[in-house]
Formats: sequence, C-alpha cells, structure tokens
Amino acid sequence: MDHFFFIWVGFAFALGAAIGSWLNVCIYRVPYEKSLLWPGSHCGHCFQRVRWYDNIPLISYWVLRGRCRTCKTPFSIRYFLIELFTGLVFAGLFYLDIGLNVQGMDFFRRQAWRIQFGWVPVQAWLFWLGHAVLVSFLIVASVIDLDHMEIPLPVTVTGTLTGLVFATCMPWPWPNTDRPPLIELRLGKVVVVDPVPVLGFQPWPLWRPDELPKWMPPGSWQLGLATGLAGVLAGVVLVRGVRFLFGLGRGLEGMGLGDADLMMMAGAFLGWQATLVAFFVSVFPGLVLGLGQVVLRGSQTIPFGPSLALGIVLTLYGWRWIGPQVQVLFFDSTLLLLLGGTGAVLLLVVSLMLRLLFGAPPPEDDERPAAQG
Ligand SMILES: [Zn+2]
Repeated sequence: MDHFFFIWVGFAFALGAAIGSWLNVCIYRVPYEKSLLWPGSHCGHCFQRVRWYDNIPLISYWVLRGRCRTCKTPFSIRYFLIELFTGLVFAGLFYLDIGLNVQGMDFFRRQAWRIQFGWVPVQAWLFWLGHAVLVSFLIVASVIDLDHMEIPLPVTVTGTLTGLVFATCMPWPWPNTDRPPLIELRLGKVVVVDPVPVLGFQPWPLWRPDELPKWMPPGSWQLGLATGLAGVLAGVVLVRGVRFLFGLGRGLEGMGLGDADLMMMAGAFLGWQATLVAFFVSVFPGLVLGLGQVVLRGSQTIPFGPSLALGIVLTLYGWRWIGPQVQVLFFDSTLLLLLGGTGAVLLLVVSLMLRLLFGAPPPEDDERPAAQG
C-alpha cells in the first residue's frame, strides 16, 4: 500500500467521526421521538446553542475539555467515544474492503495496482459505503438497546429501506461481472465445480444462479431486490419463530421484537443465507457479553442487539470462509427444510427442559416495557 491510499483511509476516518457526531444525535433523540433536525445541538443544562466551531467532531471535545462553553457543565465522554469509534470503524472497513480486499472481490483485485496509488474506483467507494451505512445503523441500534433495552422501529425501518435501495442498485454479483462459478448436482450427489462461489456486495444471490428464473438474471435489479427482500423475510421470521417456540416451551419470550427488527434490517443488506448464519454466529458474542452483563450489572435481562450486530459484521466479513462451508446446505431445498424442522424441534425440546429445570417463569416481567417485549 502506498501512502496515497492512506490519505483515503484518513478521509474515511474523518467522515466516520463526522457521521458519529450525527449518530450521537440519533442515539440521544430517537428513543424520545424527538426531531433529529430541530432544534440544533444545545447544552442540556443552559440550553445554549452549540456553535458550529464548538461542534467539530473529536476536536471540540478536547478544546472545550468536555464542558459547555457558556455554563461549563461537563458533557458525557460518550459523545467523544462514539465519534472516535465510528471514525475507526469507517477507516477500518475502508482498509478491509478496499486495501486488503478481505472479501476477495475479483473486481478490486484487477484494480489493485491503481488502488494502491490512491485511484479508488467508484465501485469500491460504493461497496464500502454500503458497509459503512449498515454499521452506522447497527451502532445506533446497539447503543440504544444498551441504554433503553429496546430498539426503536424508526431506526430499523429506515435501515431496512436503505438496505433495499443498496440491494436493488448493487445486485449480486456486483461489482464482479464475470459469469459466476456454479455448484452441480449429479445423481443426487453434490459436485462442487468451483469450491468458492463469487461474492458480491450481496454475499450470495437469492438462489443457485443456474436455477434462477429468466426474468431475474445475475446482476439485474430484480435479483438484487428479491435477494434483499428474502433477507428481510428471513430476519423477521427467524427471530419471531425462535421467540414463539421458546415462549411455547419455556413460557418466557427469550428475545425482543426489536431483535427481529434488527435482523430484518441486516437481511436487507446480507440476503437470507448470511442473515440466518449471522443469527447463530451472534450466540458467541452473546454468551460473552451476557456473562459480562450479569457479572458487572447483576442484571438478568440482557440486551441482545449488540451481540446480533457483532454477529452480523463477523458473518459479513467472514463469508468468504463461512460460505463454502454452508453452501451445500443453502442450495438444496430438501436439506434446508429438514434442517429447519430439526432446529425447531430441538429448540422446543431445549426450552421445555429449561422450564423443567428452572420452573415456570414469573407471571409478570415488569422490568421491560410491554410494547417492546
Ligand atoms: Zn451549558
């Protein structure tokens, strides 16, 4: 990598910090259904408007030493930390997506010699932008979930619609243009012609490329939108299904509807296969964060949003390696139905066992608001 490339990494960081400043506004105002545009940023103590030169991401916090210029009331360091985190994430994703080409985009590989001299093609910018936008929504949803134990619908619905726009404009295998490698079925046996299917901005298409209907060819907006919609459906159905089965067995709803909305949003970006996998991947950060929560706060109710967000990002960036492991499952409808059925039965059995072990749940869970569950 040449230093010209790192100018853009720096630019991504600065943009991320500025967006992080906006995410702070969303995190602070959306849960109270306040307007995001009016009034402008002001001190919560003296209501003095924050002037533009006191509202520069990252820098202003240190210039003012974390205090209001007028009344000297300290601001929470969290504003600064979220700006810093968003900046680091934007720069990190830019480096992973375009510098390292972690997802192995053929298109970027062929452009690598230009990219290292800072000549970043517009496709690469859009590829990164899609990921940066997804992660921005995930940050807002996660922090609000940590604060309020709920994920507001305005965040996830806006995220879902944005994801569907990206899905329609950047259909699989975009930005790659080559004919995708196929897997084949011969005498009922799966023969992998090319062990690594082409990844695009959408990790995978709706279904096996060779079995797609004529009006939905690779690279068409129809395929992109259908892939996004299938992801939305997967997110909505999966979490609600788990919630329903768990409730049936244990008598307690394990997950909130906000979690379902979060997976719906991820589905619009990831398509249904990666969304399903992300749900299972998030169990691992979920266990770690959940244990931490119980130890640190002594709380039994754990927001699952941050774990889901981590699972989504890990799955998206690991799909190059995860995909080949699971592709046999996802492109065979019989196997898929069998697996889904087995999973549902297992979940019901486990939740029934939990009920037998820990007894029936208390009749009213008054710690959480009824609307969000
Ligand atoms: Zn003030």
